[in-house]
Amino acid sequence: MTQHTTTFRGASKSTRRSMRTRAAIVAAGMGASVALGAGVALAADTSTSTSSDALSAASAHSLSGALRDQAGDQQKAADAKVKAAADAKERAVKKAASDRSKRAELVKSWVKPVNKYSLGSTFGIGGSHWSHKHSGQDFVVPEGTSVKAAHGGTVVDAGWGGAYGNNIVIKHDGHTFTQYGHLSKLDVKVGQKVATGQDIAKSGSTGNSTGPHLHFETRKTAVYGSGVEPVKFMKAHGVGV
Ligand SMILES: [Zn+2]
Repeated sequence: MTQHTTTFRGASKSTRRSMRTRAAIVAAGMGASVALGAGVALAADTSTSTSSDALSAASAHSLSGALRDQAGDQQKAADAKVKAAADAKERAVKKAASDRSKRAELVKSWVKPVNKYSLGSTFGIGGSHWSHKHSGQDFVVPEGTSVKAAHGGTVVDAGWGGAYGNNIVIKHDGHTFTQYGHLSKLDVKVGQKVATGQDIAKSGSTGNSTGPHLHFETRKTAVYGSGVEPVKFMKAHGVGV
């Protein structure tokens, strides 16, 4: 704005006011990128009636230069605004990605139901002591081994389960459940919330069992018959057994 003052020093007060107003209107009306020189020259021509000598073509030229500077400043401000918006968007995108990976980590936070074991009967095999195909994965462990919740959830069954003996079923979400069978001791109750890795029971050989082991199922519902292959399931959730 300093150039404005210099440019108008020779003009009368009213002309200066008039020119400032007109210049402002021209600048505002024509936007930042239009050729301001022509507009300003026109404004200068129509306002020189009171002091034609005060506003030379040269000063009009200076004025257009000043307005161009002003337009440049406005353009810079607009550019800064666009950049700020882009930066904000980038931050939002990064945050969303970080939230997604945190959720993915949480989904993957599964653990083995027992620590030391050898793998017993696998999912889907037939056998003389099962009325149907084997619906889980057996982990052979000594009697009294700590059994852990493979993932956080809510206990929906904790008691006698027929062929499963003492068993526990945990609901992890609407379509993911785990079941633990042949237990000697139950340490949780129905309705109880459990955390991933929390001790929930001691292993045993109750129900239809030929020796101490943990029968472990991954299911789509709380009940028998909705089991999916546990080893593959656990692998998909980041746990190799
Ligand atoms: Zn089994």
